[in-house]
Amino acid sequence: MKKTDLICTHCEKIFPISDIYPRCDNCNEPLEVKKVTKGTIKKGNPLNQTILERYEDFFPFKGIEKGICLNEGFTPLVASASLAAELGVRTIYLKNETENPTWSFKDRGTLTGIQHAVRLGYKKIGTVSSGNMAASMAAYGAKAGLKTFILVSADLPPEKLNPIAIYDPALIRVQGDYGNLYYESLTIGKKEGIYFINSDVPFRVEGSKTIAFELCEQLNFAVPDYMVVPTSSGGNLRGIIKGFEEFKLCGLIDRMPRIVCAQASGCAAIYTAQKKNHERISRVENPDTIAHAIENPLPPSGNEILRKLRANDWISVAVTDKEIIHAQRRLAGEGIFGQPASAVPLAAVRQLTGQGVIGSDASVVLLISGSGLKYTAAFERHDLQISDCRIEDLGEFMK
Ligand SMILES: *Cc1c(COP(=O)(O)O)cnc(C)c1O
Ligand SMILES: [Zn+2]
Repeated sequence: MKKTDLICTHCEKIFPISDIYPRCDNCNEPLEVKKVTKGTIKKGNPLNQTILERYEDFFPFKGIEKGICLNEGFTPLVASASLAAELGVRTIYLKNETENPTWSFKDRGTLTGIQHAVRLGYKKIGTVSSGNMAASMAAYGAKAGLKTFILVSADLPPEKLNPIAIYDPALIRVQGDYGNLYYESLTIGKKEGIYFINSDVPFRVEGSKTIAFELCEQLNFAVPDYMVVPTSSGGNLRGIIKGFEEFKLCGLIDRMPRIVCAQASGCAAIYTAQKKNHERISRVENPDTIAHAIENPLPPSGNEILRKLRANDWISVAVTDKEIIHAQRRLAGEGIFGQPASAVPLAAVRQLTGQGVIGSDASVVLLISGSGLKYTAAFERHDLQISDCRIEDLGEFMK
């Protein structure tokens, strides 16, 4: 590892980079790797580089363990002129994270988390997740040959268990309060030598920086006016913000985008706290949204996101399931099928342009965070059209 430290996002207490406990023992807020202030993008061909090689200066790793990469990242940025016209803004870009090895952006943070774990000599890793993080960790754990513990809630249905189980992790249904599992797993992990790469641990956040790095390159370093991110734990959004911040500190870009933290109204701890002008988030009782990937009732990085939103005059938005389903269909009309959480940014921008918060000259990037095939139950919410016809009548029928 290069010489650097972890730093508390709130009280700025310093911790060694080898710590796997992701929170401050002073204020219990999340830690992060100290910001990189000097670095450039490595020259070379992105077709045969990994994201860690191209952005090596921005990670504390000395050399890259190529054997545990699955060529994640370098995802497409697709412009949509028709969405821009419809919403009345200058440009809309879709950052298509469904094109990752396990079909969501989670692979970026899994990669960096496991790189850290392997360097520290851990043979066992784990995560608490019932969705994309679980599948991603199971896949990368298999590739790296590490014992991988995946803790899920006791009532997870087979259609969600099987896409995790296929990678043969130690998949454990845990009875009890799933909400406490985040902290419980970290405590057990520290004691038993299992590196738990949970939703917002520092090295998972590091991986999400590469979303911002790629965006800057794809837009020729013309920073978008708005960056809209579906947000649950807050880990991914923290990483994206940190990525832009580090590129700015290194002189690669000259300003930050305005961040939009997009949540589902059925589980909107961050949005609610910002709206009520609270210092800290409160737990959402009885969360209920079709966007299960962003259904964390007490986001572990919620307070930190709140601090960032407030300090920078950034925005949070909450959208209803009806708006989400509508947006999911509209994205499919652009040829991109995201899971419900991935449609939340589009629904959020529709609100913000409607209210005049986002103006007609704005450039906007929407993060399409994961694939629609991850949650096929959403099909039932759409009025999908299918016709039947006999072969003899087909010519006439298709006229
Ligand atoms: C994990 C996830 C999110 C939320 O990311 P956080 O880092 O928990 O805020 C959003 N969309 C999809 C598809 C996800 O898998
Ligand atoms: Zn602290």
